[in-house]
Amino acid sequence: MPLVSMNYFLPFAKRKGFAVGQFNMNNLEYVQAITDAGIEENSPFIFGASEGAIKYMGLENVVALAKVAAEKSKLPIALHLDHGSSFEMVMKCIRAGFTSVMFDGSHYPLEENIRLTKKVVEAAHAVGVSVEGELGTIGGVEDDINVSQEDANIANPKDAIYFWQETKVDALALAVGTAHGMYKGEPNIRYHVIEEVSKNIDVPIVLHGGSGIKDEAILKAISLGVGKINVNTENQVASTKVVRKLLEENPKMYDPRKYLGPAREAIKEVVKEKMRLFKSSGKVFYLREALDKEKV
Ligand SMILES: [Zn+2]
Repeated sequence: MPLVSMNYFLPFAKRKGFAVGQFNMNNLEYVQAITDAGIEENSPFIFGASEGAIKYMGLENVVALAKVAAEKSKLPIALHLDHGSSFEMVMKCIRAGFTSVMFDGSHYPLEENIRLTKKVVEAAHAVGVSVEGELGTIGGVEDDINVSQEDANIANPKDAIYFWQETKVDALALAVGTAHGMYKGEPNIRYHVIEEVSKNIDVPIVLHGGSGIKDEAILKAISLGVGKINVNTENQVASTKVVRKLLEENPKMYDPRKYLGPAREAIKEVVKEKMRLFKSSGKVFYLREALDKEKV
């Protein structure tokens, strides 16, 4: 099937209390591993492509790989720009074939973030592309974005509800105490923020920095209204560990397939675990049934 917008599965996820994983692509092996995990778990998922990954892989390659994955797997897969930094970048991705975009205006004052996000929503919705907005500042390091813990701001629930009412984004990323990259300690997740905002908006909340959070915390966040969870670091750590070990143990190894193949397996296992934890496993069938009934 063709790539779909996040609206193919997010409203259903919010109603049924599960979350869809966004797994970032870094190279071909990530695309293969994530797709195979989706097939084995019969789970919808979102390919995340950051601006850094797009620069590394090439925009056309990113789109072509995602399209082939969706066609071959017959799964509902969205191709989503992660932390889009400008209207121009968003438009470039939509024109290239992305079915979903994030516009990250979180570093702007609230009204400016609303104004810019609204512009993105208008353009994206006109061509059936879903939009994720962000409020509050999520800490940690991701590609070129580096936010220290002191600068990380927890989202204000009133502002978040107002932001959604004004912009009508399809998913809302909130800074609730998680961070990009790996955690040094236990993150202090502000569940009350998730709960209060979720009760007052129609769309799911997005949890960024989903790597290394305890299973109970993830389940609690989902039960309170998180419907999309971003995972990247955990895949990177698991696959690099395999490559490092193989190269250390086999200094004469030079065929990339010999170390990238096992790295791919490691990513697949992490993604499968996450799909089960997020309860998106096995949801493809129900999703089709529900959509048929509603004639969406
Ligand atoms: Zn993020």
